Amino acid sequence: MTLLELTIDKLPKVGPRNVPRMRRLGIVTIGDLLRHFPARYEDLSSVVAIEDILVGDNKEKRNVIGTISEVENVRLWKSRRYLTKAFIEDSSGMIKIVWFNQPYLADTLKVGTQVSLAGKIAFDKEGPYLSNPSYEKISSPEASRTHTGGLIPVYPETYGITSKYLRFLIKPILAKLQSLLDPLPPEMIKKYGLPSLKQALLDIHFPRDLKDAERARKRMTFEELFLFQLQALQNRRKLNSLNAPKINFDEKLVAEFVTTLPFKLTDDQRVATYEVLQDLGRDYPMNRLLNGDVGSGKTIVGLIAAYQTVNIGYQTVIMAPTEILAKQHFETAKKIYGDRVRAGLLTSKDARQWPVDVTSNENLAKKIMLQKIVRGELDLIIGTHAVIQKNVSFKKLGLVVIDEQHRFGVKQRMKLIKDVGSNSLVPHLLSMTATPIPRTLALTIYGDLDISFIKEKPKGRLDIVTRVISEDKQEEAHKFVRDQVLKGRQVFVICPRIEVAGTVKEAQDRPVSHAKLMWADVKAVTEEYERLSKQVFPEFSIAMLHGKMKQNEKDSIMHDFRDRKHHVLVATSVIEVGIDISNASVMLIRSAERFGLAQLHQFRGRVGRGEHQSYCLLVSQKTQSSRLKALEKTNSGFSLAEIDLKLRGPGELIGTKQSGIPDLVMAALADVELIKTARLEAKLLLKADPMLNKYPLIQFRLTEMQKIVHL
Ligand code: ADP
Ligand code: MG
Repeated sequence: MTLLELTIDKLPKVGPRNVPRMRRLGIVTIGDLLRHFPARYEDLSSVVAIEDILVGDNKEKRNVIGTISEVENVRLWKSRRYLTKAFIEDSSGMIKIVWFNQPYLADTLKVGTQVSLAGKIAFDKEGPYLSNPSYEKISSPEASRTHTGGLIPVYPETYGITSKYLRFLIKPILAKLQSLLDPLPPEMIKKYGLPSLKQALLDIHFPRDLKDAERARKRMTFEELFLFQLQALQNRRKLNSLNAPKINFDEKLVAEFVTTLPFKLTDDQRVATYEVLQDLGRDYPMNRLLNGDVGSGKTIVGLIAAYQTVNIGYQTVIMAPTEILAKQHFETAKKIYGDRVRAGLLTSKDARQWPVDVTSNENLAKKIMLQKIVRGELDLIIGTHAVIQKNVSFKKLGLVVIDEQHRFGVKQRMKLIKDVGSNSLVPHLLSMTATPIPRTLALTIYGDLDISFIKEKPKGRLDIVTRVISEDKQEEAHKFVRDQVLKGRQVFVICPRIEVAGTVKEAQDRPVSHAKLMWADVKAVTEEYERLSKQVFPEFSIAMLHGKMKQNEKDSIMHDFRDRKHHVLVATSVIEVGIDISNASVMLIRSAERFGLAQLHQFRGRVGRGEHQSYCLLVSQKTQSSRLKALEKTNSGFSLAEIDLKLRGPGELIGTKQSGIPDLVMAALADVELIKTARLEAKLLLKADPMLNKYPLIQFRLTEMQKIVHL
């Protein structure tokens, strides 16, 4: 075992309390620690002479080196706090220092101690002083410093783990590093003029200048991208070596089926369908992502593929993230297939079939349903997570369609590929995005998937008119809503959760409990509901929907709304995913600035699904927000995704947590050239050495990466 593989609890300064905290930062081993890179650097590369302390911008930190010439603790009687007052001298002068609540400093920094300080200037009646500076003792004025001089690394932190602590751990390890085995082949290092691994680690943590840091970061990024691509290519190869049922593309059957649809397919839908059907005909499993905007018509592509599959005698599963959505798909399937496909709906509490059997009852006992599935008496099973539970087994599963795939983690996707199906054949997998993702980004993060894009929307669909409305002009928004309701339309109102005390800060450090956040949602919706139904629209019927409601409560409210029993539906973001209510023409979003761009676009996609002109009203105090402006300008989810990528980075777009994508890869996703190079090199290497026999270190890193994804 090498030094880098040791777990961090072996380090002298890592106690049991910090182990789980460090884990939260993804740090388990010393290797992980060294790969925890600074988010930025604080530039304290020049030492300031005390006489020049006021030169320049007083808001910036100063680095001063000198000797402590006086130090004492003072007790503040009013607040009962300690204050440590000291003076530091260099050859040019003397300045006062003040620390709060660290009385031990008077013992640590005795008169005569040489120190390096970094802190900001403050003023009191005696003049300028250094307020609460960070400090380190030094042996000589030339000594290298970790916390107060040079370029100071500032790391991603978490509760209880500060940058100072991380510097304190990392620096001595770097100093002790012998030569390090480099996973990148020497030819590659040479070809691209990259620094060695050891050099890069030194330079990324404690660079001499920013250029070195940049070069080091680029190398580490390249390495991650390269490994990431290798992994994707290997996964794909693994998948291609598995056997899948061959579902031959029967062009006549499909063409005939398509003529029975209530609409003409768009060109993009046609191409995507063709690509999927081609894949189904191969004897290894399809792993395809259908990447299309809200309302672009992804469902029908899945339904055509299911039709083909079922006709050859294999079963299909369509999995949706919510009950409402599963039911909607079931209803669509009934309409589209008539009695040509034996379809079932299976959710945690519902089991239905269509066409009905002799009992002429759509509902059936779950037990019967499961029997029918295993006997192959149902062709298509639509449902939620319930369809991948242990007790569900299939007779001959050929195709799995996962709708709104970003809601499902990597793990669940793997589970589906692995467990589902009682034969040794692996079913084909088609997933559909809820968020359109730009092509380059999609190719990088889904390197092991084939991707079909649906960019064009069905013809004749009216663009949704979007307006940002400032909060003091709410009256106008309400008037508009009233007009629409009087014309017979329905309205959605979305409100963001009311801030739970401390959520903003805490959210990153300590996870706020899910329940706490849920209740914040409920509070927000209830208040808005009260306000709208009592004050603003007392003449209308208003309903509300939130995540704390029981599933059947939610369902019945959605059904009532669809049956036009309510004019306005006030909801939290639970409304987000693909529901189709064609009579709804207004989406009003409160405090719109609190939502992400992709999410706002998703909300907007809930309207404009029928023949009526639809509107999206973004109520916000921040009327100049570039995100909100972007929504006003375009209806294209792909354009918005590009903008979101620029504004907030890819993490927000695809949800970092479940993507299993290393941070560095995330950060590099805008660098198309680097990605291309990494992909090319990965391909070349695998071609030369398919099993990576000559590269044990690369093998090791890839295994580590797999482990992280499956944690
Ligand atoms: P999404 O891509 O968001 O899942 P859906 O598949 O739910 O979109 O389709 C949205 C709506 O558009 C549905 O009501 C569907 O029937 C309709 N639709 C799909 N394709 C077409 C088309 N080619 N022409 C007209 N309407 C279509
Ligand atoms: Mg959909």
